[in-house]
Amino acid sequence: MSASAVKTTCPYCGVGCGVNLSSRASNRVVPPVSGDKSHPANFGRLCVKGSSLAETITPKGRLLQPMINNKTVTWEAATDAISAKIKQVTEEFGPDAFAFYLSGQILTEDYYVANKLAKGFIGTANVDTNSRLCMASAVVGYKRAFGSDTVPCSYEDLELCDLLIMVGSNAAWTHPVLFQRISAAKAKRPDMKIVVIDPRRTATCDIADLHLSLKPGTDAAIFSYLLQDSAHEHLLDAEFVCTHTEGFDQALAQAEQSTPTLEATADFCGLAADSLLQLRDWWRSTPKTVTFYSQGVNQSSSGVDKCNAIINCHLATGRLGKVGAGPFSITGQPNAMGGREVGGLANQLAAHMDFATPGAIDLVQRFWQAPNMATENGLKAVDMFNAIEAGDIKVLWIMATNPMVSLPNTAQVKRALEKCELVIVSDYKMGTDTSAFADILLPATGWSEKDGTVTNSERRLSRQRGLLPPAGEAKHDWQAICDVATKLGFGEAFNFKGPHEIFAEHAALSGFENDGKRDFDISAFESITKQEYDALVPVQWPVNKANPQGTARMFTDKRFFTPSGKARFVPITPALPKQLPNDEYPFTLNTGRVRDQWHTMTRTGDAASLSRHLAQPFIEIHPEDAQSQGIKDKTLVKVFSPYGRALLKAKVTDAVAKGSVFVPIHWTQQFSNASIVSALIPSEVDPLSGQPESKHARVTLEPF
Ligand code: SF4
Repeated sequence: MSASAVKTTCPYCGVGCGVNLSSRASNRVVPPVSGDKSHPANFGRLCVKGSSLAETITPKGRLLQPMINNKTVTWEAATDAISAKIKQVTEEFGPDAFAFYLSGQILTEDYYVANKLAKGFIGTANVDTNSRLCMASAVVGYKRAFGSDTVPCSYEDLELCDLLIMVGSNAAWTHPVLFQRISAAKAKRPDMKIVVIDPRRTATCDIADLHLSLKPGTDAAIFSYLLQDSAHEHLLDAEFVCTHTEGFDQALAQAEQSTPTLEATADFCGLAADSLLQLRDWWRSTPKTVTFYSQGVNQSSSGVDKCNAIINCHLATGRLGKVGAGPFSITGQPNAMGGREVGGLANQLAAHMDFATPGAIDLVQRFWQAPNMATENGLKAVDMFNAIEAGDIKVLWIMATNPMVSLPNTAQVKRALEKCELVIVSDYKMGTDTSAFADILLPATGWSEKDGTVTNSERRLSRQRGLLPPAGEAKHDWQAICDVATKLGFGEAFNFKGPHEIFAEHAALSGFENDGKRDFDISAFESITKQEYDALVPVQWPVNKANPQGTARMFTDKRFFTPSGKARFVPITPALPKQLPNDEYPFTLNTGRVRDQWHTMTRTGDAASLSRHLAQPFIEIHPEDAQSQGIKDKTLVKVFSPYGRALLKAKVTDAVAKGSVFVPIHWTQQFSNASIVSALIPSEVDPLSGQPESKHARVTLEPF
């Protein structure tokens, strides 16, 4: 037997840890993986999910051959059927009768060709992704403020700041290696202050100096108050605000009106005034502040405003573009950022350009030599599934995601998938809740076989390297897309010989007529060879002539990507969640992750060791609520919302506030016969980002 090894990247969260993977090539046996000490995201650390990756490389449940209506077919037959149906519906009903629903799990190269095929060649912008559920609000927040979707910070800023405000994040469980890095920094410098803003008392609070258990959804008010307090206390960076920003006066006036006093703000947020006072005093006295925010901010019907309330405070006090300072959105998925970079959202075009970016449609059309350019935004995830149910989208290609479990209002998603004329599902596994609705199943390569790049939350591109050959007849997603593109008559534009050629084209587009006008620029790689691609070391974009070694921190030059070159303040009115509790549904449901599972457990469910932490789904209920409802710890509870029901085991705990309950997102009907929590969630979305309000539903409880 011969052994081989590669350095690759973990397929789970947005931390993007480097992983050493080795195998006995002759029998696919993979020894335990280890952390890559040379990778700047983790320096050798791994969390328990990453450490258990070898256990998940198993033939169990793999989809090995294409299938049409549950019968095994050849790739030729499957791609013939797909291309014929796409041709038929687009000729008959127009290009918008087709849609891709993609995933932050696929690689940048997969995303790039899907986006190119749909937006340049079929002519539809109906390309959306499960990243819509994760960080779409953060994208719009950055764009409103900076004119671009630019994450300003680096992970090292989390270690170098003096005040870290963690909002809507249980990083201890969701981004464990970042949490390890923060914990180590705090142990080394105990004076570093950590504040957690979260309705729940989570494991992240274990290292916090202060936990603000606010009323669900009220986060924006805290930052609105900090903005007006900073102004009144003369703590503004006046030179920065005057010279490099616009819209401050309007934002301040709105903040003064919305959150006039500390007491009014504390009351709105359901906080004790002295806890808000403590945060205010630390904010006043600590220039090196990072605000770290995640799904608790984004998954809200006012998620974009929450992001801008945070960014406003950093702009007003000049806390960005500096070491240890900045508003830092942390993405959930391993390649949500790569998807953003290629334009893999329905309201993006390509290379961080939007349809509304002046000249962008023409530029991309010329670069791609595209015959059928889409010219306006497509449908975002929730609207896309509504359009499918309405019969407007007739062919849906789902890739590496499980919307039957992850999208809100499961009953509606089911109706849409049943109505759709052709559902194609590309996955490495059989038997997901979504693949039950597939007319055509395409076997995809999985982690350890896939080959390409991902981008983590600090803009760092890393290679995912394939070590094992594809299982069965599995193909890389980009290959399946190129096969279909060729059968649609676009072979010349999709004649890629490997992921390095796709990456090179993506890099060339990022630099095409750029001249520093656009933030995303990796043109240093536009002529990358296969050897160079294979040897690519992790690097933070932009990577171009001006920054050949990459860029750790953005906006150090105080120049932004707005037409004026100035950052923009946004006036914010803090808003409550759309569907508040009422007499019929008196509890607020919050959702989130547990430490050792990932998404809908398609991969982590295969690692027995990962079930030791929490083996079953549960609902956290405050002791007083449990008593008033006659619910005992560890007994079954019926949970009803206006949209669905679930049966869950009670975990009585004061980690949740009275009136709130919490349920993890992972367990599914197909794998574990469990209730799907998203069945309880309404389809309320942020009007700007289209991100569902997955952190808020109203429910009622009954003992079983
Ligand atoms: Fe993987 Fe995230 Fe854990 Fe790192 S922290 S090993 S990227 S799951």
